[in-house]
Amino acid sequence: MPFLIPSHAARPGDDPIFALNAEARARSLAGEPVINATVGALLDEEGKLAVLGGVAEALREVPSEVSAGYAPIAGPPAFLKAVVHDLLGDRPEAAWAVAAATPGGSGALRMAFGNFLEQGQAALTTSFFWGPYRTLADDSDRRLETFRMFDEHGKLDVGDFERKLHAQIEQQGRVLALLNSPCHNPTGYSFDDGEWDALVGVVAAVARRAPITLVLDVAYARYGATDLGRCIDRVLPLAGQALLLFTWSASKAFTAYGQRVGALVALEPDAGERQRLDNAFAYACRGTWSNCNAGGMAAVTRALTEPGLSARVERERGALKALLDRRVTRWNALAAPARLRYPRYDGGFFTTVFCDDAPAAAARLKAEGVFVVPLPGALRVALCSVAERDIPRLVDALARAVR
Ligand code: PLP
Repeated sequence: MPFLIPSHAARPGDDPIFALNAEARARSLAGEPVINATVGALLDEEGKLAVLGGVAEALREVPSEVSAGYAPIAGPPAFLKAVVHDLLGDRPEAAWAVAAATPGGSGALRMAFGNFLEQGQAALTTSFFWGPYRTLADDSDRRLETFRMFDEHGKLDVGDFERKLHAQIEQQGRVLALLNSPCHNPTGYSFDDGEWDALVGVVAAVARRAPITLVLDVAYARYGATDLGRCIDRVLPLAGQALLLFTWSASKAFTAYGQRVGALVALEPDAGERQRLDNAFAYACRGTWSNCNAGGMAAVTRALTEPGLSARVERERGALKALLDRRVTRWNALAAPARLRYPRYDGGFFTTVFCDDAPAAAARLKAEGVFVVPLPGALRVALCSVAERDIPRLVDALARAVR
C-alpha cells in the first residue's frame, strides 16, 4: 500500500557521503591501510575527532536543570547576543540584527528557504555546492539553481552570478542567494577582496529591481586564511539595500557537531521590518523544531562570552587550525607539481580536484583504499580527515586516477 505521498515515494535513502565513510571505516577496521578523505569533520593525526577541551568541559559543566529544560523558542537571549557579537563585534550594524537559534547551520539554511522563497521558487548558489543545499530546498518544496562558479581564469564568475540574478528576478520576482565563503565546501575556495567587492557591486545594483536576500554561509569561517571580519566589512554596506543573512554554526568552530547549535542572523535597519523578521523566525522555530538544544547553547554561550574560557577556546582552536594549515601547505606543495587541477586553496576543510569522469576516478581510488567523494566534474578531498603523513600517497593516487 503506498502510504507515502507520491512526491516523496522515491527519496534516496543513505546520504552518499555517509555511505562512503561507512565503507572506508569497515575496510580500515578489517586492517587495510585506508585513506578516508570523505569525512567532513576535523580529525587529528591519529584519525580521532579533534575536540576543543574548553568546549567539552563547558558541556560537562552544564547544570542538569538547564540541559533538561526547554530553551526559549527563538533561543536564549544571551546566546543570540553572543552569536551576533561573534559575527559583528562592536560594529554599529549589530543594532540591526535579528537572530534565532537553529539546529546547526543546516537549521538556519532551512529557515532561510522557508521564509525568503515561496514554495516552488529557487535559491541561487554556486555550481559547486554542498549537496544538502539541494536536499534542504527539496524537502521544503523549494528548488536550487546555480551560477557557474569559476570562469576560465579560475576566478569567481561574478558575471554569470549577475545574469542569473536578473533571470531569477524575471522568473520569480525575488532572489535568495547562498554564498559559502571563506573555505567553500566542497572546493575550499575563499573569495578574495576583489571578488567580494564585485559581488557586492552586482547585488547593490540588482537589488534596486527586486528583493534580494544574500545568505552568507560562514560555517567554516574560523579556519580561513583571512579573518571573517574582513569580508563582513566588505558586505556590510549592502545592509538596507539587500537583506543580509548569516547562517552561523557551532559545529566546526566549537567542535560541537552533534550538539546542533546554530543561528540565523538577519541585518535590517528598518525597525518595523526587523519586528516582522523576528516574528517570522520565532514562528518558524515553533513550526519546525520548536526549540534547540538548551545545554549545547548554554555551553557555547559561555565559550563565546566568558573571558577565560573564550581565550582558552581561541587558543585550542588556533592549534587545530595550525594542524589543518600544515595539511593545506603540504597539499599545495605536492598537488601543484603533480599537475592536479584544483581551485586556489589557502585554508579550510576541503579541496576539490577537477576531473572529467569523477565516478570512475573515485572507483579507481576506492579500489586502492583511497576514499574521496565524486561530484559532477570533480572529486572532493576532505583534508580535514587525512593525516599529514598520508598526503603524499593521497596526491600520488589522485594524480594517477584523474589522468
Ligand atoms: N554549510 C556548509 C557548507 C556545511 O558544509 C555545513 C556542514 O557540513 C553546514 C553549513 C552546516 O553544518 P551544521 O548543520 O552541522 O551546523
